[in-house]
Amino acid sequence: MAVYEYRCRTCDDLFELRRPMSESDAPAACPQGHADTVRLLSVFASAPYLHSGAAPTLDAVLENVTHRSAGSGGADMLTSAGDRQALVRFLKSIDRSTEPFTVVNRPANLCGPTPP
Ligand SMILES: [Zn+2]
Repeated sequence: MAVYEYRCRTCDDLFELRRPMSESDAPAACPQGHADTVRLLSVFASAPYLHSGAAPTLDAVLENVTHRSAGSGGADMLTSAGDRQALVRFLKSIDRSTEPFTVVNRPANLCGPTPP
């Protein structure tokens, strides 16, 4: 058994279900009975964050200027608390239907492959 997180596309409710892994993608009605739901990436399950586990939440990760600006050459592009909250909301909303996107203003010294 595992815990899976779902979002209802009708009422936007977030809910969890404990079910066998073989049923992770089975239909899951929300607590209000709506059937149009989607399983989320469940980033909550990967907490605590940072190599030391020092950040219990995604909000805590983004509050740490050193970590949120790592790999950016020191540029802190998330100085706005509202922007940080929007990023956390986005991370928690990722599901299979989330379209991949390209970083538009990619710092030159960012690790990883350069997108086409
Ligand atoms: Zn619902």
